[in-house]
Amino acid sequence: MPATLFRKVWDAHEVRRLPNGQSQLFIGLHLIHEVTSPQAFDMLRARGLKVAMPERTIATVDHIVPTLDQRRPFIDVMAEEMLTSLERNCREHGIRLLNTDSGRQGIVHVIGPELAITQPGMTIACGDSHTSTHGAFGAIAFGIGTSQVRDVLAAQSVAMEPLKVRRIAVNGRLPRGVYAKDVILDIIQRLGVKGGAGYAYEYGGDAIARMSMDERMTICNMSIEGAARAGYVNPDDTTIAYLRGRPFAPQGDAFERASRWWLSLASDRGCAYDDEVTLDAAEIRPTVTWGTNPGQSVAIDERLPANADPDALAFMGFRAGQPMKGTRIDVAFIGSCTNARLSDLREAARVAAGQRVAAHVKALVVPGSQAVRAAAEREGLDRLFLEAGFEWRAAGCSMCLAMNPDRLEGRQICASSSNRNFKGRQGSPTGRTLLMSPAMVAAAAIAGEVVDVREFAPAEVPVGR
Ligand code: SF4
Repeated sequence: MPATLFRKVWDAHEVRRLPNGQSQLFIGLHLIHEVTSPQAFDMLRARGLKVAMPERTIATVDHIVPTLDQRRPFIDVMAEEMLTSLERNCREHGIRLLNTDSGRQGIVHVIGPELAITQPGMTIACGDSHTSTHGAFGAIAFGIGTSQVRDVLAAQSVAMEPLKVRRIAVNGRLPRGVYAKDVILDIIQRLGVKGGAGYAYEYGGDAIARMSMDERMTICNMSIEGAARAGYVNPDDTTIAYLRGRPFAPQGDAFERASRWWLSLASDRGCAYDDEVTLDAAEIRPTVTWGTNPGQSVAIDERLPANADPDALAFMGFRAGQPMKGTRIDVAFIGSCTNARLSDLREAARVAAGQRVAAHVKALVVPGSQAVRAAAEREGLDRLFLEAGFEWRAAGCSMCLAMNPDRLEGRQICASSSNRNFKGRQGSPTGRTLLMSPAMVAAAAIAGEVVDVREFAPAEVPVGR
């Protein structure tokens, strides 16, 4: 029977059916970080248990790490305690920790793929919602809560309901100035923030097939914002080319054998889906959120809907029927596991090169990992950003979640390349977040207000390779 990738990977990892109808699912890779793991380790300790498979567990520090000064001890006592506790737990259980002195530290969903720890056909779990990012490689990857982190540490498996699969085909060519971020914001707006409940999203179509791995990661990353527990793209030649030669990828003949197996996992022609949706890439425009969830968005040349949620409007200080274009911003944030990879920084730098950040705007560029930061510096992107008036920071989650010193103040409005615009998400209970692509954030930083990146003439400064 032709089968989806989801079904093939799930079946290969199902240990057994539990009496309640759930599956006990073997987890091939468990990614941990400093925020959701300390309690789980404490629970293990209380029961006298060891980590079942430390070789399948990898740790990094991202949420709480400061991005200005990473010297230890951190000024924030709680952040220092969290990292110290992670270090102790990793030492005690023999878990590899990619720490701030490793050259490989970064946001967990950035370093997994860039080191090829993430591979097709894996089941991947992490105590973070945006674990769906890793699905870009044809893995089944999902976020888990602290008690499930404990389960995976103790038994390398988790109890889960199987998901239905919705195929979302994006066909045609994306217009200039339209990015993967716009595609996923458009999908969430159409299908709703609860539309994916009970589903894994399989992204396909020729627009997705043409995308780089970075772009596919941006799409899969935000699957959870549409309530899909996981999102994935079938492995293809782009996937194989990306993984080849990376530190944790198989080497030599083993890589060729693995590649053949990875490609065989792609959904079979003629397989049945629980639902199918088709989008025309040519119709997608630069998109910006106006509300307090990622589904509350409009194309940059549209006005806020007449029936816009009054609670969201009141919080944001906007009114139905107004345009988003021209909205004055206070902060611009280019970062997060959605959009802080090298290609994201290149796109933003193309807009920022030779320009100047508006005097009233605080603008931050926070690379997703130490490796992204180093690569960007080799290309001179740091210089372009600094000359334009952006701050160039060390790797971490930064203002995406603001569990560190990078926070909004009061009612500030932030143009952000991150993934959530919930009330209080960026550190101030009254702070306001407008989600958009990194290029749109860079353009907003320079204009001092939300603008249409398609009308924003970049300076003729060469960027990247
Ligand atoms: S960048 Fe944001 S969404 Fe991603 S892992 Fe960090 S806090 Fe979570």
